[in-house]
Amino acid sequence: MATIYRPPAEHPHLDATDPGLLGAVVRGEARLSPQQALELLRSMPLTGLGRWADARARAIHGDTLRSYVIDRNINYTNVCNAKCTFCAFRRDADDHDAYTLEASEIHDKIAELVAIGGTQILMQGGMNPDLPLDWYLELLASIKEKFPGVHVHAFSPPEFIEFVHFFNPPGEDLEAKIRWVMVRLKEAGLDSLPGGGGEIFSHPVRRKIGLGKCDAEAWLTTMYVAHTLGLFTSATMMFGHIEGLADRVHHMKLVRDWQDRVLREGGATVEDAIGPSAAHAQAFGHYKAFISWPFQRENTPLGRVKDWGAKPEDTGPFPGDVVANLEGTGDPKAHPEFGRRVRMSGASMYLRTQAVSRLMLDNIYSIGASWVTMGPHIGQVALMYGANDMGSVMMEENVVSSAGTTYCLDEAVLCRLIRGAGFVPAQRNNGYDLIRVHDGPDSPDLKVTDWSEHRTRRLHIQNTKPEAEHAAKLTIGGAEKSV
Ligand code: SF4
Repeated sequence: MATIYRPPAEHPHLDATDPGLLGAVVRGEARLSPQQALELLRSMPLTGLGRWADARARAIHGDTLRSYVIDRNINYTNVCNAKCTFCAFRRDADDHDAYTLEASEIHDKIAELVAIGGTQILMQGGMNPDLPLDWYLELLASIKEKFPGVHVHAFSPPEFIEFVHFFNPPGEDLEAKIRWVMVRLKEAGLDSLPGGGGEIFSHPVRRKIGLGKCDAEAWLTTMYVAHTLGLFTSATMMFGHIEGLADRVHHMKLVRDWQDRVLREGGATVEDAIGPSAAHAQAFGHYKAFISWPFQRENTPLGRVKDWGAKPEDTGPFPGDVVANLEGTGDPKAHPEFGRRVRMSGASMYLRTQAVSRLMLDNIYSIGASWVTMGPHIGQVALMYGANDMGSVMMEENVVSSAGTTYCLDEAVLCRLIRGAGFVPAQRNNGYDLIRVHDGPDSPDLKVTDWSEHRTRRLHIQNTKPEAEHAAKLTIGGAEKSV
């Protein structure tokens, strides 16, 4: 009989590197305390951390298969009334390169996706005050009418909070207002929510970098509403800027706590929490995945902030670490340079952070590698540092690419990377059900005889409609497509 979900116990008196503790975490019998997670993030040698995270990933996902999805990012508008300091994508409505896609343009993009075996769209935009609720309802309905088999993963929590401001729905509090809007979007065709806009939850950091964006409470409440409506969501974290290491752990802790809550209230079993149980999850939702990535600085206001250590007077601990605490309540005045210096993350810190997320987030099924920002080979290595999923082939991406880093991979390359890491690639759907296991000679990568046609490309897409003359080209299934 399935065991009802109950979080594993913490053992805060144990040293974070105690093999007994970490072995129990791997088996799902113990839970890291935030302090222990912080100690691992700060000081455990990278390879050791990777071994424990890999062991935990294998305990949940086995030794054989690692997944990917074929979806398409569609950024339906770049008009946004927020001014996040890390964003190079947003435009004001009267900027010459502001755009909002027509429904027919979105349909064309989905048709291209379906032609290469894609199963899902990830649709996010700026927060555009000129679009009424009916625009979204009609768009979703038209997508479902034309492409009933395509999963619509759309509208991150900051967009929902702005929907509440734009549409002024009835409801006695924010949760009720979000619910009113979300019910209607779900009825029109919304299938799940992406975890965009998570950034870093702690108030001092969020107030500095997410100008005009919702706070952590609103973000988490939006996801909670989605879960109670039976929707899957993902959670994200963008690190490697002004935050301290404790802020990252605090962020993970909040995701874990809210996941505990929804699993408990939903009457989930342990299998529901960390097993691919899409069928049951139609009755209740939860976070299915966590993906973290380092801040990409190009073309962003935050990216122009000097690195810590760039000035002779930059001595002592990083300002973000002085301010941060595990409760997310740090005093921004604790260091005069807080918010005025960044600490960028490279590959090593990316892998450390991801590995800790795998060990800390014991109630989340999937940890996604971020090859889009880190490059295909670090993405591949990430499969040995706790990640079980390589995310999506990249047909189109306009947000982090605007900030300077987008690698572009097709399905054959993605499968080759997974196989090269020692696993069998498997295509999944949004619910993490595996729909094709590539263990035979007809696998996308094993059919390739000339890899020159499948080179990894780096994109830097202009902030104009993708059809514009600057649009980059990507080879997908042997044919060049505008992205
Ligand atoms: S990150 Fe999103 S919400 Fe923030 S300014 Fe850019 S488009 Fe707007």
